[in-house]
Amino acid sequence: MWARFEPLLDSVERPARYLDSEWGVRVRPDSSYRVALVYPDTYELGMANQALAILYDILNRVEGVAAERCFVPWKDMALAMRREGVPLHTLETLVPLRECAFVGITLPHELTYTNVLETLDLAGIPVRSADRGEGDPLVIAGGPCAFNPEPVAAFLDAVLVGEGEEAVLELVEADRAVLVRGGSRAERLRALAGVPGVYVPSLYEPVRVEGAGTEVPGCGSVAPLEPSVPAIVAKRALRDLGSARPPTCPVVPYMDVVHDRAVVEVLRGCTRGCRFCQAGMVYRPVRERSADDVVRDVMATLRCTGHDEVSLVSLSTTDHSQIEEVLRRLARGLEGRAVSVSLPSLRADAFGVEMARLVSGGGKKAGLTFAPEAGTQRLRDVVNKNITEDDLLATIEHAFGAGWRRVKLYFMLGLPTETDEDIRGIGRLVNKVMEVARDNTPKDQRGGLRIGVSVSTFVPKPHTPFQWEPQLTLDEVLRRQEILRESMPRRGVDLSWHDPEVSFLEGALARGGRAVADVIEHAWRNGCVFDAWTEEFSLARWMAAFEAAGIDPVALASSARDPQAALPWDHIASGVSKRYLLEERGRALEGVTTKDCSFDGCTGCDACDDLGLDISLGGASRG
Ligand code: SF4
Repeated sequence: MWARFEPLLDSVERPARYLDSEWGVRVRPDSSYRVALVYPDTYELGMANQALAILYDILNRVEGVAAERCFVPWKDMALAMRREGVPLHTLETLVPLRECAFVGITLPHELTYTNVLETLDLAGIPVRSADRGEGDPLVIAGGPCAFNPEPVAAFLDAVLVGEGEEAVLELVEADRAVLVRGGSRAERLRALAGVPGVYVPSLYEPVRVEGAGTEVPGCGSVAPLEPSVPAIVAKRALRDLGSARPPTCPVVPYMDVVHDRAVVEVLRGCTRGCRFCQAGMVYRPVRERSADDVVRDVMATLRCTGHDEVSLVSLSTTDHSQIEEVLRRLARGLEGRAVSVSLPSLRADAFGVEMARLVSGGGKKAGLTFAPEAGTQRLRDVVNKNITEDDLLATIEHAFGAGWRRVKLYFMLGLPTETDEDIRGIGRLVNKVMEVARDNTPKDQRGGLRIGVSVSTFVPKPHTPFQWEPQLTLDEVLRRQEILRESMPRRGVDLSWHDPEVSFLEGALARGGRAVADVIEHAWRNGCVFDAWTEEFSLARWMAAFEAAGIDPVALASSARDPQAALPWDHIASGVSKRYLLEERGRALEGVTTKDCSFDGCTGCDACDDLGLDISLGGASRG
């Protein structure tokens, strides 16, 4: 393979994307069971994915199993590989993907769907699971999009829902047992369907529900074809996060990658309860790692990798009950070593600024980031974003008084019940932030004040209280953007937008059902790949694909769904009940907030009971 592949390297951009032998790589050529772990984007993005690093570490500890990495070749390399007939292979031992026992693909967001097809096609694996034969590997996906797998179900042999640490081992064991006795592909799939948390799409069929109200054509629910497979597939979640030691010797890339630093996970879940946030709903309950474990793993990772920066990651790192202790111990342990600690986002309170001071080591160039999401208290209550204007302004006063000169604020346009007044409220809030920032900055430094305002479009996601809500049409987004632009202060503000066309596609794909597979295949055959890359994205090509498949994307994204109608993801259980989501939706429409159950008592989402789990703070179950 190397003899055929190596000549291609000097004609493509960034050949380091396709080379292995990095520090920390695992090579196990004698293993009998080979797994290709695929991130459906380039090496630079995939190497930042923590799930891939965890599974790589876990699987390579199993006797007889080798896990190897594979990323999607950029267009120049894909062209060269097709021209020369070189199949897509793993980085570590250059084994073609089609010779692996299974190909595991993580699905981080909807815009990677065409890259899944590109991966399979470059590997010489039929893109539709129905067309695969005995000699083909099993194609198994996981990740955030597994919570509505239907749009890509036709391309997948199995889907692992939820956290993979334990389930992936059970899955490999079940598959190896069938292979050892010479079982067929059908038997392998049945064995996988018996692993809790695994969904095998070919063992389910679409159901037509009569009188289903506003159900979008082709996007109903599915039901099992036989009684032996579960009607509802419940997500997997680790009971004890401390028992799953994260990789402390991960692969260190030679080339620049996004988030080029050591990463240590500090907790899973987030129970702040923002009603638009899918991750906050589907990864419940909160389970923290203890301060001792976090500090130990940070030190071990830095020692092994030589990184000079470590990021403490999670959905809400600064909510960790022992975060102050963690940061103080790290500051002491790393003193004089020129290593910095970073946090993904901050709480909008004085404690958040204090934490920023602890990790900044005195430097304040990077600026601070906060996410008020909405411009008025009314709308923040609707979405359950428990930040008041006073909180935010006090935080800005504290931060600028302490020497920071830059701040970035995140907002969303099109949240349910949003009015033009709410949009103007964003402008008013930014004006007040600017005033407070100026008042707390010495006169001679005011010229350097900058406020970044980043605005995205609300996308209603499955398994959230807003899963039934409509998304703004493109024309309406443009009208509301204009209102926002006019309400913004003229000076000192950098206003940026997340491309509304991308959000529109994301919305159409996120709430789709099985029929959407035809759209994705049309789009890919029409040249759509790397849709998450601005320069590659083409809404026109996607619209042509929707038309060819006879599906209306506006109906998918922008129609309200009937709460009584079946949804394409009804057979996937995140633990949070539909009853709770509906109650939360009702509270949202009344502008009533819900407290954070990690600190203020259970609010009844059912995740703990359904999954047999408990909230665990500081590594100990709350009971
Ligand atoms: S069941 Fe209660 S305690 Fe558990 S995550 Fe849900 S609201 Fe929180």
